[in-house]
Amino acid sequence: MSEEKSLNFIEEIVEEDLKNGKYPSITTRFPPEPNGYLHIGHAKSICLNFGLAKKYGGKTNLRFDDTNPVTEETEYVDSIKEDVRWLGFEWANELYASDYFDQLYAFAVQLIEKGLAYIDDSASDDIATQKGTPTTPGVRNEFANRTIAENRELFTAMRDGRFTDGSKVLRAKIDMASPNMLLRDPILYRIKHASHHRTGDKWCIYPMYDFAHGQSDSIEHITHSVCTLEFIPHRDLYNWCIEKLEIFPSKQYEFARLNMTYTVMSKRKLLQLVNEGHVTGWDDPRMSTISGMRRRGYTADSIREFCDRIGIAKRENLIDVGLLEFCVREHLNRISLRRMVVFDPLKVVITNYTDSGELLSSENNPEDDQSGSRDIPFGRELYIERDDFMEVPSKKYFRLAPGQMVRLKSAYIIKCEEVIKDGAGNITELYCTYVPESRSGSDTSGINVKGTLHWVSVAHAIKAEIRQYDRLFTVEDVAAAEGDFKDHINPHSLQVIDNAYAEPALLKDTADDRYQFIRKGYFCLDKETTTGKLVFNRTVTLKDTWAKEVKKG
Ligand code: ATP
Ligand code: MG
Repeated sequence: MSEEKSLNFIEEIVEEDLKNGKYPSITTRFPPEPNGYLHIGHAKSICLNFGLAKKYGGKTNLRFDDTNPVTEETEYVDSIKEDVRWLGFEWANELYASDYFDQLYAFAVQLIEKGLAYIDDSASDDIATQKGTPTTPGVRNEFANRTIAENRELFTAMRDGRFTDGSKVLRAKIDMASPNMLLRDPILYRIKHASHHRTGDKWCIYPMYDFAHGQSDSIEHITHSVCTLEFIPHRDLYNWCIEKLEIFPSKQYEFARLNMTYTVMSKRKLLQLVNEGHVTGWDDPRMSTISGMRRRGYTADSIREFCDRIGIAKRENLIDVGLLEFCVREHLNRISLRRMVVFDPLKVVITNYTDSGELLSSENNPEDDQSGSRDIPFGRELYIERDDFMEVPSKKYFRLAPGQMVRLKSAYIIKCEEVIKDGAGNITELYCTYVPESRSGSDTSGINVKGTLHWVSVAHAIKAEIRQYDRLFTVEDVAAAEGDFKDHINPHSLQVIDNAYAEPALLKDTADDRYQFIRKGYFCLDKETTTGKLVFNRTVTLKDTWAKEVKKG
């Protein structure tokens, strides 16, 4: 983070608290529910929470908010840990809200003892109606009159599995007329006879979010508990529990969640995309998940940079995914190895090239003087892109055409002499000649050409499959669009090119490398690569082509 940058409002609060000696140091937490994979919105929260602790010398806990037994799985826990680490952060402690179940139970008993909680046998519909509306106060039912002894006994029986799901709840006794609906005797515990991914069958009652989150923060002495705006109404209850239990006073602060164009971010929706086969999995490169973006070739650096650039807002807004792509492109431009890959091959025969072949050299990355160079084999037969040739060129066509000259990148100038066609009139080959003294780096030909093409030697070409991704949705604001969000899935979000040819240097590179395929875009190797075939994902185009495509329709 640069020094000149002004503080965001949470940093201002932290600096104030540290200055006043409210806390000797800060502790934050990132509290995912392990019910899905993390997405770019979580990255925002991770960068904020871990970023604060990093900046102010504090620490950050990774706490799994695993109070709902039915939706949570160990697979999700593992993926979350992998994603946080990949983003470049390390937690002080790995914790689980479920580790606090005994403590939370004891807290609940304390509230009962203080006459601040009671067991309600009402059906959930009745509880909802009795709560009233924001403009009319709710009414307390007769269960609220139970004695402390009776509540204590019933709560024990609830824990011991004596009742069925939904037959009883524990409620806080606060204020049925509060303008804040969440204070109208909120439910603290419910019965759920379900196995938990960590506690197994030990519990059949589970605390509600509001009776787990703040207390977990407090147990861990979290100083600044940062969450998204929808939790503003929960803040009063958060404070009420802490105050009544007389425990460490953690404080909740809210910022605007990240919303981004052309994508969805709710885990529930992402899960639907996976389960219904709209994508190949949580790590499908079109997904807004961190694992999807990683597989697609986004770098952790660029995601952190994006989170930093969008800042911390107090109001909801919709961020253009183009900004994320801009950050990715900017970073990839600095680190990518330049390579040549022909997507739609047209064979060129250099008729006056009589050598058996030679090794040319080309720089790996002109943006990085440390990156060195690689060898590129040249030969008599080459592939160029089919659309880099036009039999009847338009006026400003500077690529290859009959009688026209172009430079082959890092190689020679060639001239198209003859177009070879099959019986059906399709162009099958081009016969060209090369200018021997035009070799890149030692060009004495004096010839100036306007076009430079990428190419691959036929004898050395490696087969490759290219996967090009487009936005997963066709509308900017998917959440606000009419109908089901899946009505807006872009049917053309994946384009597979399975007949591409890559230069042999790509065989030697490692899975972590990022590439710029010259004139094509940024790419990375996909995990589905086999020994017989390289598979590449297009991470992002060279330039922003989306605006143009939208206009074309
Ligand atoms: P989802 O609706 O996608 O399931 P969630 O809020 O239920 O998200 P949690 O696992 O509970 O997911 O979130 C962990 C943390 O990440 C919370 O502090 C939450 O506020 C934060 N978070 C989730 N989504 C976003 C987002 N879009 N922008 C910023 N922070 C987010
Ligand atoms: Mg949640």
